[in-house]
Amino acid sequence: HAKKRGKNRYYWFEPQMENERRFRNALEAGIRAGLANGEFVPYYEQQIDIETGSLTGFEMLARWNSPRFGLVSPEVFIPVAEDMGVIPLLSEQLIERALEDAKRWDPALTLSVNISPLQLNDPWFAQRMLKLLVKHNFPPQRFEIEITESCLHENVALVRSMILSLRNQGIKISLDDFGTGYSSLAQLRSLPFDRIKIDRSFVSEMGQDGDGSKIVDAIVSLGEGLGMPITAEGIEDDAVLARLRELGQLKGQGYIYGRPETIEQVRERLGALGRLTDNAPDGAETMS
Ligand code: C2E
Ligand code: MG
Ligand code: MG
Ligand code: MG
Repeated sequence: HAKKRGKNRYYWFEPQMENERRFRNALEAGIRAGLANGEFVPYYEQQIDIETGSLTGFEMLARWNSPRFGLVSPEVFIPVAEDMGVIPLLSEQLIERALEDAKRWDPALTLSVNISPLQLNDPWFAQRMLKLLVKHNFPPQRFEIEITESCLHENVALVRSMILSLRNQGIKISLDDFGTGYSSLAQLRSLPFDRIKIDRSFVSEMGQDGDGSKIVDAIVSLGEGLGMPITAEGIEDDAVLARLRELGQLKGQGYIYGRPETIEQVRERLGALGRLTDNAPDGAETMS
C-alpha cells in the first residue's frame, strides 16, 4: 500500500480535485451499472395518522445497493443521476418496483414517491406516471407524488398545469420539505396541492420550545386556511409528538415510528397487522 501511495505522488498537483474527479467518475460508472443490474431498491417509511396512531401508507425512499460503495444515500446519488440525465429512468425503475410491492398491501394504504424537479420539465410526465399505474394495475387514488419547493422556481405555469393533469387522473400531489425553499404564499394559493409536508428541521426543534414550534404552528394554520392537510416529517421523540397532537389532525413520519424499511420488513409488519393482501390483481408470481 505504502508503495502504491508513493507512486501516486505525481498527483501533488491539486490532489483534492483529482480525487474528487476520480470519485465522481467511479460514481457515474457505478450508477450506470447499477441501473443495468437493478441495484436501486425502494425502502419504505411509514406514514401515520398522528391522532389514532394508525398506518395510512408508505413513502418510498430510494437506496442504492452498490457492490462497490455499499448502501448509498439518495442525497449522494440523486444529484449525480440528475446531472447524468438518467433520473427519469432511475425514478421510473424504482416506481415500478414500488408499485409491484404496494399492490400486495391493504388497498387502504397509499404509496408516496419523491420526484426530481427535472422530471417535471417533461411535458409528458403526467402521462408517463399514468402509464406506469395502468401497467401495474395500481389505482391512481392510492398514488401520491411529492415535489419540493425548488420545483416552483422555474416555470410555475408549467408546474401548475402538470399538477392539474395529475389530479385529473386522481393522483395526489404533496409539497415536500415545506419551509426550506422560497415559495410565496401567492404561489401556494394558486397551486392546488393536496397536502403540505413540513420540513423536519422545524419539527425537530419543536421539543425545545424554540422557533421551530412557532413555524410549525404557522404552517398548520396556513394549511387550514388553504384547505391543505399537513404532514409533519422527522418526528423523533415523544415531546414533539405530544405537541403535534395538540395542533390538530395531522399525519406524521419519523424515526419515532421506525426507520425506513426494506420490502421484506414491510411485508412482515403488514402481515402482523393483517394488512397484507397477496391477491395481486394481475396474478403476478408470489414472492418468497
Ligand atoms: P424527503 O423526501 O424529505 O425524505 C425524508 C428524509 O428524512 C429521508 O431521508 C428519511 O429517511 C429521513 N427521515 C425520516 N424520518 C426522520 C427522522 O425522524 N429523523 C431524521 N433525522 N431523518 C428522518 P433519505 O431517505 O436519505 O432521503 C433524503 C431525500 O432524498 C428525500 O427527502 C428526497 O428528497 C430524496 N429522495 C429519496 N428518494 C428519492 C427518489 O426516488 N427520487 C428523488 N428524486 N428523490 C428522492
Ligand atoms: Mg419526501
Ligand atoms: Mg421531506
Ligand atoms: Mg428532504
